[in-house]
Amino acid sequence: MQRIVVLGGGESGVGSAVLAKIKGYDVFLSDNGTIKPEARKTLEKYEIPYEEGGHTQEKILNAWQIVKSPGIPENAPLIVQAREKGIPVISEIEFAGRYDKAKKICITGSNGKTTTTSLIYFMLKNAGLNVGLAGNIGQSYAFQVATENYDYYVLELSSFQLDGMYDFKADIAILLNITPDHLDRYDFNMQNYVNAKFRITRNMDKEDCFIFCADDPITTEELEKIVLKVKMLPISQEKKVKEGACIQEDQLCVRYREDEYFMYLKELSLAGKHNIYNSMAAAIAGKVLKIENRFIRDSLMTFKGVEHRMEEVMSIKNVLYINDSKATNVNSSWYALESVKTPVVWIAGGKDKGNDYEPLYELVKEKVRAMICLGVHNEKLHECFGDKVETIVDVLSAKDAVQKASELARPGDTVLLSPACASFDLFKSYEDRGRQFKAAVRELQISDSGIL
Ligand code: ADP
Repeated sequence: MQRIVVLGGGESGVGSAVLAKIKGYDVFLSDNGTIKPEARKTLEKYEIPYEEGGHTQEKILNAWQIVKSPGIPENAPLIVQAREKGIPVISEIEFAGRYDKAKKICITGSNGKTTTTSLIYFMLKNAGLNVGLAGNIGQSYAFQVATENYDYYVLELSSFQLDGMYDFKADIAILLNITPDHLDRYDFNMQNYVNAKFRITRNMDKEDCFIFCADDPITTEELEKIVLKVKMLPISQEKKVKEGACIQEDQLCVRYREDEYFMYLKELSLAGKHNIYNSMAAAIAGKVLKIENRFIRDSLMTFKGVEHRMEEVMSIKNVLYINDSKATNVNSSWYALESVKTPVVWIAGGKDKGNDYEPLYELVKEKVRAMICLGVHNEKLHECFGDKVETIVDVLSAKDAVQKASELARPGDTVLLSPACASFDLFKSYEDRGRQFKAAVRELQISDSGIL
């Protein structure tokens, strides 16, 4: 029996192990850390042997193939050894893709993946298709391939997942944008990161479609260097396109084959320039999949967005509180600030990943009334924004951030949590940061309404 070793006992690892077991392989799962009780239960249910708290080399380097969790870097000693021995190391997506006949709509990009993936999934569901949602989001793709029978999958793919893909093929690939991120995993070489993103087009043929942002300079520069066999469908807010999606006056225009479809920008439920790109990508994907216009329209008009992404929490005393905790890099905070049309009390900061804040200077000068630094080390924020914002204060908790923001905001303002930094200095995750922020906003509302 061929032996498959799965490294990492998280969502994707356990799913891969279950699929491998169902497909009749000799399976072993190994995790360097601790495996969550829920995951352990699943492994036991499927009678899959596993270890945690370290890797036993002899049980791993005898594998026929290794399925690696995207969190494990390529230079981890075990991976280096496996490669030296000639053992193929693949990702969950590559492994599960071998057993999946469904049509696959795959989304990558530095920003906007989760939003666009969720929007497309919502649209396909509305249209009544039998569709699964997976990848970097929700339940494991491999687990669903093992236990469900979908006709379509909408898959969010990070560059780490793309790295481990070889024979996998998307039917529709979407590349939203490329801005520097995760460079520590790519030898600080931007081209390596660009190459990883472009792996989404691997194995695609002329009947497949590639949706990409024609306004993104890194993407277009790369497209000048390579030749793709796929049908190219650009999206753009700056130029007209023959096929793809663009803006015509105040409307979004989608063109595919002979068909043309218009929708007013103000009808889109997701606000902001960045979300116009996301909506464009979804609309053109919908056209390619022959989804009726009414379903495309309804979906783009009613999609509620995803938690922690420009999520409107509530208004208190005519000040709107927005949770954009997922904005963990400068580019996403740029789009957040750009999309807000009122003066802003901006809550930013956290763990700085070597940020260059310069792209934000103009927007901050123009829009930010006051800045609240929510982080352990705020010196760099003070240095960069001290001469651009009148009031800058430091806080160490979401509760204090909201309290201070409520004091500094004036009626009609927006309080925006869009940190441009990771959360790990003060919070467990960006979700934890967002939830604490929302809880603090709710508390403020209760105390303001005099219930307490
Ligand atoms: P990802 O899954 O790629 O991290 P999300 O959909 O979770 O992306 O959005 C993360 C943040 O990026 C959001 O808070 C939003 O402000 C910003 N964002 C969303 N879509 C885009 C886009 N198309 N271009 C640039 N920034 C975006």
